[in-house]
Amino acid sequence: MRPPVQGLDPDAETRCVHWHSPLDIIALKMWCCGTYYACRDCHDALAGHPAKVVPKAQFGQPAVLCGACGTELSVHAYLACDSRCPACGAGFNPRLPQAQASLFRGRLGCVLATMTWPGRSQASTR
Ligand SMILES: [Zn+2]
Ligand SMILES: [Zn+2]
Ligand SMILES: [Zn+2]
Repeated sequence: MRPPVQGLDPDAETRCVHWHSPLDIIALKMWCCGTYYACRDCHDALAGHPAKVVPKAQFGQPAVLCGACGTELSVHAYLACDSRCPACGAGFNPRLPQAQASLFRGRLGCVLATMTWPGRSQASTR
């Protein structure tokens, strides 16, 4: 039974208008409202409230959905899966966009910070 995924024009594998490569098939459960969205931009466009990050203590809870088979992964499982769904073998985008990566702070943040994305946060912080 796969949970419903919200988003802007999501397809059957949770791609949306923002992220739609063959590998962009994971949806993220937003901690603020407990709802799966195709991406954070979809959440911000539709939810009407700010996105909240997943607390590190909750990394064992399901928070990532494989759009190919509908399996829910915990953050820990997602980190350990090497960009491939442990249930169906579908490939995930190893370079999560910054907006999505920022949902997972702490340990994952360190891992993801080593990758290069167009920075969105540096310019506006003081
Ligand atoms: Zn929300
Ligand atoms: Zn989106
Ligand atoms: Zn899968």
